[in-house]
Amino acid sequence: MDERTCRKCGVTKPFTREFFSPRRWTCNACMRATANKWDQDNPEKKAISRSVYKQRVTNAGGGHTSDELLLLRLMQDRKCYYCEANFGDAAVEKDHRTPLSKGGTNDAFNIVYACRTCNRDKGGKLASDFFGWRRSEGLHCRPPLTCFFCESDLADAGNVSLRMPVQRGGAYLPENLVWACPSCYTEKNDQTAAEYLSWRRQNGLKTRQSIRVLVKRSKPK
Ligand SMILES: [Zn+2]
Ligand SMILES: [Zn+2]
Ligand SMILES: [Zn+2]
Repeated sequence: MDERTCRKCGVTKPFTREFFSPRRWTCNACMRATANKWDQDNPEKKAISRSVYKQRVTNAGGGHTSDELLLLRLMQDRKCYYCEANFGDAAVEKDHRTPLSKGGTNDAFNIVYACRTCNRDKGGKLASDFFGWRRSEGLHCRPPLTCFFCESDLADAGNVSLRMPVQRGGAYLPENLVWACPSCYTEKNDQTAAEYLSWRRQNGLKTRQSIRVLVKRSKPK
């Protein structure tokens, strides 16, 4: 197994995600300790940044429901939206694809779950810029996401859409979920994916080429 010696504590540990972030020479434990020490040394700064942040969240507008977050969690399957690292039992952090500081909102299409490292590294960047930065650093990125319906790029905005809506027997199961751009998501509303796709084709809108819609209906009660 690959090993790496932490430049901070000098301890040699397995070079796995459990102990190191890729391309980092400081072990995760030391990274955490540094972050905690900063918090302790700067209690006021921390308190201010928290209240400033809270204020920003309040001012940003938009909103998401707990159902939307549940769908997002199902879709992400406990993997970071950016680096796909498995969260395991670690805390997950909600990240705004377009940061609040850049006019992002709290709408579901702007929210993803990210690991702590990505959340920190991303800082005030747009999701698309953060992906660009990660690629330039040779860091692993999730495969590019496109809208299931119109194939537009979803790096900076995307909703989790149910192919078969709940009202029509669709279940909250991963195989019933697709990523959609906010406008397709809204337009589809309570149509099935197949209905919405054929509506798009009839209206001459850009539509993905071929699909197989495989949907499990929830069992009748
Ligand atoms: Zn260390
Ligand atoms: Zn990550
Ligand atoms: Zn779309």
